[in-house]
Amino acid sequence: MKTNLLPEFLVERDERRCIRCKVCVNQCTYETHSYDEEDDVICSKDENCVNCQRCVTFCPTHAITIRKNPNVNTENANWTVAAIRDLKKQAETGGVLLTGMGCDKPNLTYWDRLLLNASQVTNPSIDPLREPMEIRTYLGAKPDELEMEMENGSILLKTKLAPQLRLNTPILFSAMSYGAISLNVHEALARAATKCGTYFNTGEGGLDKRLYKYGDHAIVQVASGRFGVHPDYLNAGAAVEIKIGQGAKPGIGGHLPGEKVTPDVARTRMIPTGTDALSPAPQHDIYSIEDLRQLIYALKEATNYTKSISVKIAAVHNSAAIASGMVRAGADIIALDGVRGSTGAAPKIIRDNVGIPIELVIAQVDQRLRAEGIRNKASIIAAGGIRSSGDVIKAIALGADAVYIGTAALVAVGCTVCQRCYTGKCPWGIATNDPWIAKRVNSDIATERLVNLLRGWSLEIKDMMGGMGINAIESLRGNRLALRGVGLTDTELKILGVKMAGA
Ligand code: SF4
Ligand code: SF4
Repeated sequence: MKTNLLPEFLVERDERRCIRCKVCVNQCTYETHSYDEEDDVICSKDENCVNCQRCVTFCPTHAITIRKNPNVNTENANWTVAAIRDLKKQAETGGVLLTGMGCDKPNLTYWDRLLLNASQVTNPSIDPLREPMEIRTYLGAKPDELEMEMENGSILLKTKLAPQLRLNTPILFSAMSYGAISLNVHEALARAATKCGTYFNTGEGGLDKRLYKYGDHAIVQVASGRFGVHPDYLNAGAAVEIKIGQGAKPGIGGHLPGEKVTPDVARTRMIPTGTDALSPAPQHDIYSIEDLRQLIYALKEATNYTKSISVKIAAVHNSAAIASGMVRAGADIIALDGVRGSTGAAPKIIRDNVGIPIELVIAQVDQRLRAEGIRNKASIIAAGGIRSSGDVIKAIALGADAVYIGTAALVAVGCTVCQRCYTGKCPWGIATNDPWIAKRVNSDIATERLVNLLRGWSLEIKDMMGGMGINAIESLRGNRLALRGVGLTDTELKILGVKMAGA
């Protein structure tokens, strides 16, 4: 069918600058640029451009500018350009519209309407350059009380502690599966987590044997498809995570297209090469909290009670009650993924309309577990749209122990959030398994960039804590007095458990 969709972006080339080097031709994975030998000119197919900025970045003479196409329908507050475009696409394809990364709606972010406190005069601020600041975090169940005994003049801990994950900084890398991202990127995440003393998460695709050496810094996921799950895998990681839901697509399963299931990905997932990896929407053995308890204890048995078991859910309307059930079912860590959480591929309509913002859920879950006297039984990891160290520290003040970062980590590696991960042609070599494109990520450089990101954020967290007169991140957890809201309704402030700025 002939399309009547206008190109979303226009490629402009300054002919005075262009030296016909063909870098843009070779770099674009969508075949936007081509070289016309006869006329010795570089041509562009605007309709192929996804505005990934790869050609713009690598053009040696800065000859290229990508512009949003100004030729749009008459302004209409209801029938937006994006809505009309999506309707036309569906009229042409009759299919579900796919997208990648997280929800990009502007009105779902509370971080920007929360501000941090700072010490002035009383309770003076602390200078992190001159005084120690503790941001080390332990994830896992904590006992109600500690029993000690004296032996030969030394104090010994009698209480047997549950397994703990030790984080040098309260930031982990989110679940991203091998298959959705390339092995180079998976390896970079693993190496950066190891270097920084934190953890990466395998996602639902298993762990390639070549990465088992980073197992001490891996959280291995068990999702509904059970891809790549076997005893060695469970025991290779430092913790096991049961994935019930994901912020970008609550209530639906996953889909890795057959084209991305290369022989290596197939071996890791234990499925045939080239077949679609479809994970079911529910875990077919979990229909109640009791069923969840059975799986949690089956995994504890399988790992000889040496690993923390995390349970990940998407942030939904009754997350606080669900979280209470998860903790009572034996989860040591609960991971909450908000509506802005990212994905390699999801139906756009689900990504943008299902779930709720993570800020509200962190506050509700933390308050509920405290009210029930079980907050110490599990740690909380918050995820879904963490963009900066400011978001991290606000998440902790709302009640999280630590955060998962996904998109931020990929941006550090080169991602430009073009939202085309589902095509398998990621121009930055991240969300692809095409061997030619995947080579664009050098694992050494990607590792260094990730380490730098975590280092920078950790320094900023210490700066902000110092400014608040807090020298241990422990004192900030769930300390909502350290936050104030701006531009929020009374109901929103109540749910978040914070006061209005000025109050
Ligand atoms: S990369 Fe820049 S200079 Fe090279 S051919 Fe393309 S537009 Fe011209
Ligand atoms: S990972 Fe690649 S395809 Fe996905 S948003 Fe980033 S740059 Fe685009």
